[in-house]
Amino acid sequence: MERGIEYSAPIGDEVRATTCYMCACRCGIRVHLKDGAVRYIEGNPDHPVNRGVLCAKGSAGIMQHYSPARLSRPLLRTGERGSRPVRSPARSCGISCRAACRPAR
Ligand code: SF4
Repeated sequence: MERGIEYSAPIGDEVRATTCYMCACRCGIRVHLKDGAVRYIEGNPDHPVNRGVLCAKGSAGIMQHYSPARLSRPLLRTGERGSRPVRSPARSCGISCRAACRPAR
C-alpha cells in the first residue's frame, strides 16, 4: 500500500477560509488557528482568483498581527517631521492629545 504525502496537514485546531486584504487582488486564503491565534496562512485551492497560490506578501500576513515592530498604540511625534522622538499620548496626556493628533490641514 502506497502512502501519500499530505501537503496541507492541519497546523492548528481550526482552519478558516477568508480573503487576503494585503493588496487589491483579494486572494482566497486559509488561516490556521491554534488556541484562537493565527499560526499559518496558506492559499485556498478552492478560490477562483488564486487557486491556492499565495504571494510572499500574503504569506507574511501573519506578521501583521505578531510582528514585534508592529505599533500597538498611537504615538505622538514630539520633534520635527522625520525625527525619532515620539511618545505615547495615552500615557502622558490622555484625552487632551486628541486635538494634537489630528492631521494638519
Ligand atoms: S496573497 Fe498576495 S496577491 Fe493575493 S491579495 Fe494577498 S498580497 Fe495580494
